[in-house]
Amino acid sequence: MISRDEALEYHRRGRPGKLEVTPSKPCLTQRDLALAYSPGVAEPCREIYQTPDDVYLYTGKSNLVAVVTNGSAVLGLGPLGPLASKPVMEGKGVLFKRFADIDVFDLELNAPTADGVIQACRLLEPTFGGINLEDIAAPDCFYIEEQLKETLAIPVFHDDQHGTAIISGAALLNACELVGKELDEIKLVINGAGAAGIACAKFYLTLGVNPKNLLLCDSKGVLYEGRQDLAPDHPRYNPYKAQFIRPSQAHTLEEALVGADVFCGLSIPNVVTPEMVRSMGNNPIIFAMANPDPEITYPDALAARPDVIMATGRSDYPNQVNNVLGFPFIFRGALDVRAHTINEAMKIAAAQALAALAKEGVPETVCRAYGMEKIEFGREYLIPKPFDPRVLLQVTIAVAKAAAESGAARAPIQDFEVYREQLER
Ligand code: NAP
Ligand code: MG
Repeated sequence: MISRDEALEYHRRGRPGKLEVTPSKPCLTQRDLALAYSPGVAEPCREIYQTPDDVYLYTGKSNLVAVVTNGSAVLGLGPLGPLASKPVMEGKGVLFKRFADIDVFDLELNAPTADGVIQACRLLEPTFGGINLEDIAAPDCFYIEEQLKETLAIPVFHDDQHGTAIISGAALLNACELVGKELDEIKLVINGAGAAGIACAKFYLTLGVNPKNLLLCDSKGVLYEGRQDLAPDHPRYNPYKAQFIRPSQAHTLEEALVGADVFCGLSIPNVVTPEMVRSMGNNPIIFAMANPDPEITYPDALAARPDVIMATGRSDYPNQVNNVLGFPFIFRGALDVRAHTINEAMKIAAAQALAALAKEGVPETVCRAYGMEKIEFGREYLIPKPFDPRVLLQVTIAVAKAAAESGAARAPIQDFEVYREQLER
């Protein structure tokens, strides 16, 4: 555990914060200066003016991601606003750099409305190779991303939505395989219809879950046909929830879980009881991902019945659904092929690559990093570990390939052997 003092001291010591800007060219002599700035710098300016894509050859755009927030949903802490969100965004920058050598400018916007965020991102598009939206509240986050994807020529990716969907999607593929259930047959209940819940619902359908077998719940229970606050003429009508309204006799989470194969929690702590777990089908798959405290704790779920397969958002139990398994490598692949978007094919490729990697033998170095003798595919190891260096190679390459195959890559990789060697360096 980390104490409050330790955390504050860590952020304060030395140069405050966690990121700095470092020149990537030598700057020791008069000649270096003349190259870095005037007059030498005029040459790449002219080239880029003639051939706009040359900006990727002569500037940092090719490796620069904006981490953008308005601070409307910071971690699980609520609408702390842009200023107080800055440590989180700097932290995201640290992860991008550490795991995929991607440079980040963290941009905390004074933009309480969706249109403000959209406008800011449009204005900033020339600077960046991609935009990672972060900690923006639902339902604005859906609208902002939709609008930006439609109008910008660089990838835009809201990690709280799609990162979660991809990593948990990988875990879902493997959990189903372990218990011998087909994706198109499982009965799945998602608790939470916010940023992460809605994105997971959409992505699981893309992976093959039957829309008829999927129920979503929010703070008022199941999104069922006839629920009055979901009607189009209701003042709080939410079109993103509307897509998941189902004809259902089950109106509460408790009722929805009876006989269910999968529970996916992206809501709040402690809303699932041991009785609810016992009411589920055999070998129930429980991803209780509310952070930091899950919908039901790992020990409580296992105590309820021994056949559960369990994942959480926490690092102190097996099967941590950690977004760092996704976003660094998804952006790495997207940037390296100058993808104009991160599309469904690329997301599926990332999930499948993670799922496949979990089934490969785990190197000793990785086991040691986690203080474990052996790590083996199974109930307690559904998805790779964040410090497994193979994740970079496998996910990045899968995303780059999928980008090319789906027509999103403007500069596809020509030789994947050479590319792999580059990544390994
Ligand atoms: P969000 O956009 O605020 O959505 C929260 C959703 O939970 C809302 O739909 C809300 O319902 C619902 N909810 C609140 N109380 C509920 C209850 N008693 N029963 C059922 N649903 C309830 O938040 P988010 O970004 O999606 O994140 C949700 C949770 O997932 C957070 O705890 C977050 O930390 C966690 N999360 C974990 C991971 C991970 O492990 N990798 C990734 C992303 C998110 P209303 O719509 O009715 O308000
Ligand atoms: Mg976040």
